[in-house]
Amino acid sequence: MAGVRIVMLGTGAALVDPDRGHSGIVISAAGRHYLLDIGHGTTRQLVRANIDPSEVNHVFISHLHFDHIEDAAYFVISTWMMNRTVKPAIYGPPGTQRFVSHLLEEGAFHADINARAQYKQRAESMEMVRPAVHEFGPGLVYEDAAVKVHADYVEHIPSEILHCFGFRIEVEGKVIAFSGDTAPCESMARLAQGADLLIHECTFPEEALAFRKKTNIGTYAHTSPTELGKLAARAGVKSVVATHFGHFDTTSPVMKRYLAKHMPIELVGPQFMESVVRDIRRHYAGALAIAHDLMRIDL
Ligand SMILES: [Zn+2]
Ligand SMILES: [Zn+2]
Repeated sequence: MAGVRIVMLGTGAALVDPDRGHSGIVISAAGRHYLLDIGHGTTRQLVRANIDPSEVNHVFISHLHFDHIEDAAYFVISTWMMNRTVKPAIYGPPGTQRFVSHLLEEGAFHADINARAQYKQRAESMEMVRPAVHEFGPGLVYEDAAVKVHADYVEHIPSEILHCFGFRIEVEGKVIAFSGDTAPCESMARLAQGADLLIHECTFPEEALAFRKKTNIGTYAHTSPTELGKLAARAGVKSVVATHFGHFDTTSPVMKRYLAKHMPIELVGPQFMESVVRDIRRHYAGALAIAHDLMRIDL
């Protein structure tokens, strides 16, 4: 395989969205696949992207919010059943070992894994359902002949509560930066410096933020379109993919009922994306794409 291929597997935020899955990105290069986040739907989306999930051996988790990790059991158990031959490796923030241990054989899916392990073929491949977990801090997280993955803290949830990371990935001479979830911050600007591609969260449009401020809804630890444009221009990135959208473009009546508490409901719908593009463009003039599930980018 020549070059680097990226597929945006899931591009929504944490609520139930009929049109967008939870966070998941696959980078393919040199015949290998690297997953960034493993939110709900990621495993199924790999198959839809024509990638065999049992050939995906490396998973990097930005933070342990459920919309970035809840497909982990599905991924590990289903690829065990698909006769995976390489033990999966999961790289994540402190807490990842606990999450994985409580999820599989020794935890939530004990009964299922135990039942399947009664079959000879499964019993002989138990290592495939026991991921190698590597908890990381800021710095170089992973390296092989094709890829280097660096991580640094971003500003989403205070780190005494939840460790949140962004990534800078060097692959085949290209640089890809991924924000995870974050407010605009210095460390993300550094991770993104001169990148060929910046994949950055853009959870709420400015109009939704103004509404949240007015109605005093919760705290805000995400990046707005205007802030994303500013950061991308400052970091001198060659292209931007905005993602992790907070459902404001939905046409679902169920979602609209809920979103009425969070944003000016008359604006909600696909046309709301117009203001996202307009506001990113206030500061950033380079290549720009608005992510949708299964969107493919070739570098
Ligand atoms: Zn999220
Ligand atoms: Zn989050």
